[in-house]
Amino acid sequence: MNNGKICVSVCAETAEEMLEQIRRAEDSADVIEVRLDCLQPKQIHKAFAFLASKKPLLLTYRPKKQGGKAEDDLNNRKLLWIVFVLNGSLDTKKLWFDYEEDLTNLQKVSNPVTIRSYHDFSGTPENLSEIFGHLSAKSDVAKIAVQADDISDSIAVWKLLEKAQSENKQIIPIAMGEAGKWTRILGLAHGALMTYAALNAGNETAPGQISAQDLIDIYRVKELNEQTEIYGILGNPVSHSLSPFMHNAAFKARNMNAVFIPFEIKNLDEFIKRFVKKETREVKLNFKGFSVTIPHKQAIIKHLDSIDETAKRIGAVNTVKIVDGKLQGFNTDAPGFIEPLRNSYGDLCGAKVAILGSGGAARACVYALKKEGANVCVYARNLEKAENLAAEFEVELRELVITNDALRDFDILVNTTPLGMKGRFEMETPLRAAQIESVKLVYDLVYNPFETRLLKEAKSVGVPTIGGFAMLAAQGAAQFKIWTGEAAPVKEMSAAALRKLS
Ligand code: NAP
Repeated sequence: MNNGKICVSVCAETAEEMLEQIRRAEDSADVIEVRLDCLQPKQIHKAFAFLASKKPLLLTYRPKKQGGKAEDDLNNRKLLWIVFVLNGSLDTKKLWFDYEEDLTNLQKVSNPVTIRSYHDFSGTPENLSEIFGHLSAKSDVAKIAVQADDISDSIAVWKLLEKAQSENKQIIPIAMGEAGKWTRILGLAHGALMTYAALNAGNETAPGQISAQDLIDIYRVKELNEQTEIYGILGNPVSHSLSPFMHNAAFKARNMNAVFIPFEIKNLDEFIKRFVKKETREVKLNFKGFSVTIPHKQAIIKHLDSIDETAKRIGAVNTVKIVDGKLQGFNTDAPGFIEPLRNSYGDLCGAKVAILGSGGAARACVYALKKEGANVCVYARNLEKAENLAAEFEVELRELVITNDALRDFDILVNTTPLGMKGRFEMETPLRAAQIESVKLVYDLVYNPFETRLLKEAKSVGVPTIGGFAMLAAQGAAQFKIWTGEAAPVKEMSAAALRKLS
């Protein structure tokens, strides 16, 4: 446990809606931030008449230039505070206040907490230390929120935690945006007073904000401390990844002091140098392992101290384990792919398998199938690009133009293209029922949606199927085994990922 608080930010146009959101926030919040700037101007008077909660309310009237909705006019903003708050129209003992750094002449009132805040949505200014000094001189707490475009941009604001601790001051440091999400998850464990949360997904009041429920149930932010083992997914993008849900469920089920975080990383070299390698790192985080995804599966290899045979043969690493500061690379895509297939089909020796696509996942599939003794044929839309794969693994290569009887001689069809995946490909299928009715099994690596169009086509002609979720769960379980040496709580991991998918 740490001493940090979760502050749920509520934002509504009318006083009634605001009160309704306050009620909903009370279950998960330690403090509720009432964004007065969200209210229509006429509603502000009304809101003051009945703003109340069993939790402390943090009043904020954020101007547009600081990312809010209030007019920037300084005098108007001062007037609001003086007339409605400081003049005693509210019981200030039950309130916290957040004043922006430009509201210099407001007196500190006798309420529990006064926060002074600074927001920069364009990046991180050079003089962060100076800003911190200025804010903390006139308040109980300094809140500094800056935009991070890449994860390394978040280092400067994070380092203010050490400064605040050494000066015995309170700080809320936030790196905004997907790349700064980790600061919202780990802040409390490292001494931040609060972390801000959205009332629920879709109600975020700042970029990168996480819902209160996820902060509590998934990331368990109030249970973390400086000794917590940190795992995470390195990729770009990572916001849709199910790995944080699967792995955090596993850590929770095993009662481990560990957390799994989405790390959106553009520049992997900088991340490894400034966050991970003992000799060069600028932040002290207790990293123990990573999942690695697009586009870093190959690029991570040069940073490893060792790599296992499977990852080496495939030429891609999706799992890193850190032991005594040394990075060990593995690939669990291959075993994760083959396990459900073997369970469903049986012995794969001599099975004829057609693989659609020739990208990263296809490499893992081809490697795993060859190891089982299967006969593999890769169908690719770009033969030139796929030639290396075919030559390296000594498999047949054909152009991705499939007639109705082209697959008559095959036992298994595997789709490794993104066709059918949620988003722009969702309504597509690489093949239709008439093209696959002769095979014995269709395996689609796409896991979102749970049932793709290709799987529906297969079912319509009675062909058994395996969806990508089975591989996702199996490769995740294999990662857990590598990191902890113990069997994964597969049921809990799958249930957590499925909940997120549905
Ligand atoms: P990738 O490296 O980008 O490879 C994608 C392959 O699909 C490439 O060969 C590409 O051809 C081909 N392709 C792309 N769009 C196509 C289209 N419109 N028509 C025909 N072929 C097309 O991606 P990946 O890492 O292999 O991932 C591929 C899929 O597998 C994704 O949907 C991913 O989510 C899924 N996957 C699932 C799991 C799991 O655990 N279930 C694990 C890994 C991957 P070009 O080379 O010509 O571009």
